[in-house]
Amino acid sequence: MLDVASGAVARADVVVAGDRVAAVGAGLDGDEAVDCAGQLVVPGFIDCHTHVTLAASRDEPFTLPRSARVLSAVPVLRTLLGLGVTTVRDAWGADAGTRLAVRRGWVEGPDILVSLRQVSTTGGIGDHWSPRLGPVDFFGDPALPDPVFDGADGARAVVRRMVRAGADWIKVAATGSMAAGGGVTDRRITPAEMAALVDEAERQGGRGVMVHAHGARAAEEAARAGARSVEHGVFLDEAAVAAMAEAGTWLVPTLSVTQPRPPGQEADPGAEFEAGDDVEAHAAAHRASVRLAAEAGVRIAMGTDSPVRPHGEALSEIAHLAGPGGLGAAGAFRAATLEAARLLGLADDRGEIAAGKRADLVLLDGEGLDTAGLAGRVRGVWRDGRRVA
Ligand SMILES: [Zn+2]
Repeated sequence: MLDVASGAVARADVVVAGDRVAAVGAGLDGDEAVDCAGQLVVPGFIDCHTHVTLAASRDEPFTLPRSARVLSAVPVLRTLLGLGVTTVRDAWGADAGTRLAVRRGWVEGPDILVSLRQVSTTGGIGDHWSPRLGPVDFFGDPALPDPVFDGADGARAVVRRMVRAGADWIKVAATGSMAAGGGVTDRRITPAEMAALVDEAERQGGRGVMVHAHGARAAEEAARAGARSVEHGVFLDEAAVAAMAEAGTWLVPTLSVTQPRPPGQEADPGAEFEAGDDVEAHAAAHRASVRLAAEAGVRIAMGTDSPVRPHGEALSEIAHLAGPGGLGAAGAFRAATLEAARLLGLADDRGEIAAGKRADLVLLDGEGLDTAGLAGRVRGVWRDGRRVA
């Protein structure tokens, strides 16, 4: 079994009772045994940045009825669970009902934390607006509230709207995006607005703020304002990573967005546009950013940003973190488990295989920590102590 805290692999028995790990050690017994010889047990994976309801609506946002958008999450959630992803933070798109459906057992899937919408100042990437039609709220759904705000008072109001509709996290769009008209080095949230977002989220049950930021200055300002994580961070620099390290801000790199697919996986030309025209330059900048952050002591947690790449390729992010991101295999596994749980404020409950923790377990074929081809190695998945795949 893998001890993600130390990166050590050791032979051990894992005793599961109910939804918890009861004990870890040598020579332990139980009512029922699963032979894991020649295999590796790791904690359930945690994806800190995904979009479980956007796989279908990405292509048909204006034509799908609401129910189709929501139900499109059902096969996505099943796919993620089959890969051993047992917890996700949805980075906008999923509503509180999707979270409820999994917790009630209506739908099989990872435990979901929701952010509902991407809050943005006027004209930001969460502001869906057309010069022909004006505001285009293609959700038209009170469970996914209006994310547009301006000013510090507006920032507090938008956090309150999201919390009222059940948001666990507040997702903020601080820069433009390579896929949506550029503006990657913009700073679209003022320090006063960011401070208000962070303070209001904190007042509301200690919620955290996750900030979409490609450019270094926006990432630096987010860190200084107390945002809990910077998402993507493709163009970080020394000052940005120093501010993040000092503030304890996590980086969720989502390398899957920019990196070429691992060997053996078909290229998907349809996805390449997400990285913009300058695919190779962005890929190199992104790798350099992650390495710079890691060297500065910034904490790094796994996030895929699926469905920029298909949800079925989610575990490729672990290989991207290990190799191109420079974390090595043990570091990448830690980013996808324990560090992710710490970012989500759930480390007391999950993220490693230890007595008292939730029995979210993945059984991998072979004993090695190699991160290549992980999806093909998954032989069993337990969520809350129950075998689900
Ligand atoms: Zn995203």
